[in-house]
Amino acid sequence: MADFYDAKQVEEKFYKICEERGYFEIEGNKNIQENGKNFCIMMPPPNVTGVLHIGHSLTFTLQDIMTRYKRMDGYRTLWQPGLDHAGIATQNVVEKQLLAQNIKKEELGREKFLEKVWEWKERSGGQIVHQMRRLGITPAWSRERFTMDEGLKKAVKKAFVNLYEKGLIVRGNYMVNWCTHDGALSDVEVEHKQNKGKLYHIRYYLADENLSSEKQKLSQNSAKQDRAVDFGVAKDRVNLDQNKANYHKDRLGEILDGSALGVHERENFDFNDACQSENLPYLVVATTRPETYFGDTAVMVNPNDERYKHLIGKSVILPIIKREIPIIADEHVDMSFGTGIVKVTPAHDTNDYEVGKRHNLEFLTIFDESGILNEHCDKFAGLERLEARDIVVEELQKLGNVEKIEDYENQVGYCYRCNNVVEPYISKQWFVKSKIAKDAIKKVNEGGAEFYPSHWINSFNAWMRELKDWCISRQLWWGHQIPVFYCECGHEWADEADAPECCPKCGSKNFTQDPDVLDTWFSSGLWPISTLGWGNDECFKNEKWFDGDLKEFYPNTMLITGFDILFFWVARMMFQSENALGQIPFKDIYLHALVKDKDGKKMSKSSGNVVDPLGEIDKYSADILRFTLTLSAVQGRDIRFDDEKMVLVRNFTNKLYNASKYLLLNADKFANLDEIVVQTDLGRYMQSRFFECVKMVRENIEAYRFNDAANAIYKFLWDEFCDWGIELSKANKASVAELGSVFKEAMRVLSPFMPFISEYLFHELSGTSLENSPSIMIEPYPKISAQDAAIEQNFALVIEAIISIRRAKASIDLGNSKIAKAYMMTDTEISPFMHYIKLLAKCDEIELCTSKVENSAVDVSESLSVFIPLDGIDTSEIVKRLTGQKNKLEKEVAKLENMLSNEKFVANAPEAVIKTNREGLENAKSKLEKVLGELANFGA
Ligand SMILES: [Zn+2]
Ligand SMILES: [Zn+2]
Repeated sequence: MADFYDAKQVEEKFYKICEERGYFEIEGNKNIQENGKNFCIMMPPPNVTGVLHIGHSLTFTLQDIMTRYKRMDGYRTLWQPGLDHAGIATQNVVEKQLLAQNIKKEELGREKFLEKVWEWKERSGGQIVHQMRRLGITPAWSRERFTMDEGLKKAVKKAFVNLYEKGLIVRGNYMVNWCTHDGALSDVEVEHKQNKGKLYHIRYYLADENLSSEKQKLSQNSAKQDRAVDFGVAKDRVNLDQNKANYHKDRLGEILDGSALGVHERENFDFNDACQSENLPYLVVATTRPETYFGDTAVMVNPNDERYKHLIGKSVILPIIKREIPIIADEHVDMSFGTGIVKVTPAHDTNDYEVGKRHNLEFLTIFDESGILNEHCDKFAGLERLEARDIVVEELQKLGNVEKIEDYENQVGYCYRCNNVVEPYISKQWFVKSKIAKDAIKKVNEGGAEFYPSHWINSFNAWMRELKDWCISRQLWWGHQIPVFYCECGHEWADEADAPECCPKCGSKNFTQDPDVLDTWFSSGLWPISTLGWGNDECFKNEKWFDGDLKEFYPNTMLITGFDILFFWVARMMFQSENALGQIPFKDIYLHALVKDKDGKKMSKSSGNVVDPLGEIDKYSADILRFTLTLSAVQGRDIRFDDEKMVLVRNFTNKLYNASKYLLLNADKFANLDEIVVQTDLGRYMQSRFFECVKMVRENIEAYRFNDAANAIYKFLWDEFCDWGIELSKANKASVAELGSVFKEAMRVLSPFMPFISEYLFHELSGTSLENSPSIMIEPYPKISAQDAAIEQNFALVIEAIISIRRAKASIDLGNSKIAKAYMMTDTEISPFMHYIKLLAKCDEIELCTSKVENSAVDVSESLSVFIPLDGIDTSEIVKRLTGQKNKLEKEVAKLENMLSNEKFVANAPEAVIKTNREGLENAKSKLEKVLGELANFGA
């Protein structure tokens, strides 16, 4: 055996051999498969643009442990791998590359651009699948899928058309979350953050009936003409980027120097002046987004608000644009908040949207899809909405329409992609109706699925109860183009065909396909069924999937993923798969926590605390990274990644390596445990403890307590086998052969956790090599067997005796040096094991006794007492030390007793202080007792 274990070389070589031999595939463990045992787990498909991060490493490690364990336990296993096309991320990567060559995607056009994306995908996409291999994971690689491969494209169309025809997918004008860079976002794609902003209090002057001059009428008319389209808007969607290009910076200059005049200014009529000069009354409304006032179509008060009752039905004039809007009444207005008057902007606020519908108000959209203010904003048209804010406010201040501006903290939604402020925006989009989830929710709650940790069911239910219609259209080119077609006569239909021949309603050949693509999660929501062949037609049949797959592997056995995608992915798989097949897609759902840094801080590039798993594998090994993550994977708790833990696990691998070296010093090779009859007492003891370990590991894996499973094998191998078994075997050479067999068997138990070093040591100890023999990864996992309680008791006593003698020696400053004689008093039969105790406790002779031995160092433990005679040992130094301790303790006891007998102190001191002092006293007393006992032993 080499002096050192070369992890890098072994891991690379072994992985290649195992993959080439097809071990990871469904039939990889053919020889040990048992009838009717199937196991299936889906890999969360990482983004095709992705690189392996520490969170993936945890997910994949746990999935691999599960899969390897089941594979060794005789299951036909399918761990389905694949990649996600990642709409926005991928499009961004390719767009950026093109821009670096000065090419805009609009110049290429959709088709050419998509060709470029596919080229990129073939050339540089999916690097992560190579990085994943370095972790030593074993999905069925031959079945690797891509969410936009031909088969999965068909499945997506099938699912879409199906839902469309059931009325579960509809198109409509909705208020959506809108990013002016990325378009529509689903609710979960919006990140809400605390924002330090301002609250602007703006005066709206009451319209005075007497002032209804021609000019006022004119201003109202012009506002009416400007009503783009009625509620709903949705003009033909223009490309966001083109809009940005149309936005001229010089427009900003014009406005600032006043050379741009609004229509009303050109008429040279200052309405505000007129109002103020006559001291007309005004109302004050407050807003955090003053620029949206251009879209106000009412102000609203509570009908029960005595202050404003007389105003209901009258109107106010919006400053600058001088549009007249009504004062309406609505019970929803909170009278106690602010002035009790609110502005209503139905096209730009989620609540106002509902108000607008209730009161049949106008929906005025005041900026376009890239956030550029439009003609409703008068001279501010052309400005970007956030940029316009200060300019608009400045103008309002000049006009005397600003009552005050306060600092204000509120929650603001940001785009999860680009951190842009998300706007509520009315837009025509495709939606999945929330009622799609009804049956899935019911089935989950009837016990159809179980969450680990179990509390996730509450979050799941809370979210599902509130489920809104899911906006699935995205303004991108890369993705599954929505399979809906519009013909020239205005017909609309959904079609599974890539290029339908004609409109099914009128036969027209003049039709276009909806330009939007589907939200990426729409295709990954189908992952548990589409990868098993559902909706694929004949694509990849008998290559990536087979006829019986759905029957054998659906529902999947379980799912392992990070809790952060419970709603993005898990919930969608639930209702989409359930809707297609009438069964929820998996039984058990294990959600792991985030991997944070050692101080519990979230890893992020900006904090500089990101751990690169590939770097860790280079520095340590895949085995060590896997095992460290597993040991930390306590259900429901954040995982703190600490380099010290990696070092600890490395020490563990060293320990295993050294144990193997020791074993091989005593024999060339070792038989498998089931080929021998274990006869020596130590062999029987180690085997019995090993069975305990098997039981613990199995039970914990089955309950998804991965950390406990890893801990059980770690403790057995390190504490019991290496620290005791190996040491004890030095007193019984005949046991070494048996210990070697036990150790080999333990390598099988370790294999799912640390596949490489376990394989390596197994072969070293068998006198074989992986190159020439089968891997232990496709051999049976050790079964639970009956333990030998009697031998375990015997050795428990042996270990207790050794520890007791060592303690007695330490009490007389002998350290672990050899002594001539000790006495032992015990009721239990221990004579046959004396040789172990003598060797490990370094004691030439141990005599059993039936009573206390005078003039000796004593150690009393649970089942026995040990005496080491003090003849010939100079105890003066020890006595001196103990006396010093005695004096100190006596003083402490006296002081505390004094304090606690002081009535005044007890009456006044806080309870906690008294409690601490009482405990201190008890503690000091018991220490003192012990020291006095030891001193008595020395006759002092
Ligand atoms: Zn964005
Ligand atoms: Zn038609």
